[in-house]
Amino acid sequence: MPTYTGSCFCKSIQYELHLSSPEDARTSLCHCRNCKKVFGTNYGLTTKVPKDTFYLISGNPKEHAADNGSGVVIHREFCDNCGSFILEYGEMAKDHFRYICSGSLDEPELLPPKGEFFCKSRASWMPEIPSKS
Ligand SMILES: [Zn+2]
Ligand SMILES: [Zn+2]
Repeated sequence: MPTYTGSCFCKSIQYELHLSSPEDARTSLCHCRNCKKVFGTNYGLTTKVPKDTFYLISGNPKEHAADNGSGVVIHREFCDNCGSFILEYGEMAKDHFRYICSGSLDEPELLPPKGEFFCKSRASWMPEIPSKS
């Protein structure tokens, strides 16, 4: 059973993902305006995992919850010491999934992206990801 570890930049928040297979995780890019704002960069990159595979090992993430502009409440958790964004989930996915910010994983290369959302908002200089499934 593969275990993936992750943390915020200052390491006060540490977590583990206990997946039964790498197929349990799905990493995607999102080019929407909200993701650009929240991630503070060109796109959001999250790894969707079943909620019960996420184990918080240390720390106490701060939560921000707000309507994303379309009537959907998005919960976001981040480190209140270093500001690293750890995970997010929409109100409807709340009981089932967590969207882990892929850069917080210790080895993000193990779970490469399989899809993209809001491609219309992809920056003009950015190519599509090569291997989608
Ligand atoms: Zn931190
Ligand atoms: Zn987005």
